[in-house]
Parts: sequence; C-alpha cells; structure tokens
Amino acid sequence: MGSQVLWQLAKRGYDVTGYELFAPGHSRGAAGGETRLFRTIQMEDHGYAPIADRADELYRALEADSGQQLRDITGALVMGHPSSPDTQTALEAAERSAHPVRVLDREESMREFPEFALDPGDVTIWDGHGGIIRPELTVATAAAQAQRHGVTILRRHRVTAIEDTGSGVHVTADGQTRQFDRVVAAPGAWTSLLFPELAGLFEMRRLLSAWFFPAVPGQLERVLPFLRTKPAQTEKNTYAYGLPYADRTAMKLGLGSDQEARVDSPDTADYYVTDTLLEPFAEWIGRYMPVLDPYPMRIATYFESFTASGREYVQAHPQMENVIVMAGFSGHGFKMAPAFGEIGADLAEGRTPALDIGFLQRDEVPLTAA
Ligand SMILES: Cc1cc2nc3c(=O)[nH]c(=O)nc-3n(C[C@H](O)[C@H](O)[C@H](O)COP(=O)(O)OP(=O)(O)OC[C@H]3O[C@@H](n4cnc5c(N)ncnc54)[C@H](O)[C@@H]3O)c2cc1C
Repeated sequence: MGSQVLWQLAKRGYDVTGYELFAPGHSRGAAGGETRLFRTIQMEDHGYAPIADRADELYRALEADSGQQLRDITGALVMGHPSSPDTQTALEAAERSAHPVRVLDREESMREFPEFALDPGDVTIWDGHGGIIRPELTVATAAAQAQRHGVTILRRHRVTAIEDTGSGVHVTADGQTRQFDRVVAAPGAWTSLLFPELAGLFEMRRLLSAWFFPAVPGQLERVLPFLRTKPAQTEKNTYAYGLPYADRTAMKLGLGSDQEARVDSPDTADYYVTDTLLEPFAEWIGRYMPVLDPYPMRIATYFESFTASGREYVQAHPQMENVIVMAGFSGHGFKMAPAFGEIGADLAEGRTPALDIGFLQRDEVPLTAA
C-alpha cells in the first residue's frame, strides 16, 4: 500500500519521502510468496467492486509506465456452496458484473475444471478477467516508479514515532526526526507496534502458504487460480485459495483462519511450520484437489493485519488529523492496492477520495479490549 501511495503522490508532483523497514518488494510482510489472486468477483462486499475495477486500470497504467508485466490475466474460479453468505454475495456480483463471467453447476464445473472436486450443490463462478498478480514485483515497481518521479525512499529505516504537532508531523526513524505536512502510514502487521493506541482494532496474524506438486506430473497444465468461499458459519471452515506457478508445475495453497495464528509482532514471530500445521492442507487436498501430492514441496510464512469486520481501516488517525492510517487489509488487499494507493493519496491531499470507501467503516468494532 505504501509503495502505491508513493507512486500516486509522486505523479501528483509532491515532495515525498517513503520509509521502509526492509526494502520495497521484501517477503517478510503481507506481500510475499510470488503470487496473489486478482478477481473481479468480490464476496466480501459489493463496495469493493469499483475499487477492484479502478485497481485493474491502475495495474495497467503501472505496467505501461514501467514496462513490467505485473499480472497474468488467466481467468479465475470462485467456488462454494450457495448456503454460504459469501457465495451468495459472489453470485450477486456475477449477476451485476460487466466483466466476462459464467456460473457453472457442480457437474459442469467438474467437467470443465477437472482439477477441482466440489461438494454436492456447489457452484463455480468463472471470472474471465481474474488472474495472477506478481506481488513483490508490483511493490518494487511502484516504488521504483515513485523514485523515478523524484521520491526519496529510505530503505532499512524503522519508523519508531509519528507525532502530529499541529504545525507539522514529526517522523522519527533510526534516531533522526524529520518534519512533514502529512503522513500516510501503511505498516501492515506492524501497525499495533507503531500505533499501540490503535492495537485494539487490529489483530496481527501469521498466514501460511504451501506449494504442492501434482501427484502425476502435467496434471496442472490447465489449472486456473481459484478461491473457495468461507462456508456458512455452522460448517467446518473449508475456505481456501490457490495459485499455480506460471509454468503450471506446482500450485500454492492458503487455507482459512484455522491456519492463521495470532502473533504479537512479526519481528519475533515463529517462522517454523510444524507438520501438525500441514495436516489441514492434506485434508483439504484430499477433499477438493486430489490431483495434488498432499505433502508440500515448499512452505512459507507471511504476516498480515486483520480487523474484526475484515474491512480495511483507511482514515485519519483518531488523535492525529494529519496522519492517515491504512491497515487491516485482512488477507484480501493486494488486488486493490493500486486503487488504495490512490485513495491514500487523496486523503493525504485532504480530499474526499474519488472512490467511495464509506462502506469500510460499517460494523467497525474493536477486536480486543485494548
Ligand atoms: C499469505 C497471504 C496471501 C494473500 N493472498 C492475497 C490474494 O491472493 N489476493 C489479494 O488481493 N490479497 C491477498 N493477501 C492480502 C494482501 O497481500 C495484503 O492485504 C497486502 O499486502 C497488505 O499490504 P500492506 O501494505 O498493508 O502490508 P505489507 O505488504 O506487509 O506492507 C507493510 C510494510 O510496512 C513496512 N513497515 C512496517 N512497520 C514499519 C516501520 N515502523 N517503519 C518502516 N516500515 C515499516 C513493512 O516492512 C512492510 O513493507 C494475502 C496476504 C497474505 C499474507
């Protein structure tokens, strides 16, 4: 999010400085693992549809500016049972969509997309404009384009304090304090460390990604990226998403919240993945993607900030009006990052964002009593 805000503000001609704990495109936060799902079908809220559409345009603009290919529009699948509220929202989104979309019943889906087994009554939505994003390259490219427009990026600089004095915002990093007119802070899973006063709004979680070979080589040649929706609350959580390697020799999977452990800080969290944590992957594969070998060939750990509602926290800090906080992207922010960059830039300019984000604040409740 930070690199996208930098790119936007740079294009608007501002004198901008970016701070990054590591370096743009690193893999220790929420944006690692080589692939992210881009979809035009949103199951979380219809309010996201225009944001994803705008992100689609901005991905293309960033590709045109940089000459880098950041996405591969392959088509994507959204699968699930219609008894799930998320599947219902996805089906409504398909009905409203201006993009190429098809809804398939279980039998049609298993014929056309034989890599995926479905439960009785399940439906599949083919999202023709869905695809695969390259996250690290996207972050690095947005940052590089921002630098090309004159932005300074201070790598390996940890911001330790942000203070709005009323006549300027003081940012302290590595013992040095600089003054700015406005600050946009997008610290991901580090948000509660930088803003302890907001800790009750966010939960920092460790998310696992695991990569699997097919049981028989070649079985993934036509596989599409997919998302399986969260089922109705009474059911066992079978939420999952998957993204193939570009050469289709393996598939990355991520599972639902049972696999997402709360952490106090990404700085000290455990990266080690026990075999016990891998069991749900094997179980999920046996039920929904038996073409995969159930033991992963690669495992990795990433960190993301979540809100209770799953909706982003994108607004001025409650006690510092010149500090815009962008956090709580809750596992689904990457596809929309360029549009959130534009929203962050609008807010930094003191303007109401051109894109409607009013729905994000609905049902906002603290996660803890902090
Ligand atoms: C495993 C996984 C899979 C996902 N899959 C998808 C998907 O398929 N599709 C999708 O749309 N979304 C997906 N998401 C969500 C998406 O990747 C995140 O919502 C998005 O990357 C969040 O961006 P962010 O800028 O908030 O956090 P980050 O990308 O983590 O960026 C925060 C940055 O702030 C820096 N920072 C933190 N504190 C400081 C400090 N004090 N000083 C200086 N720098 C600091 C960090 O180093 C980091 O670079 C996934 C997330 C995960 C973890």
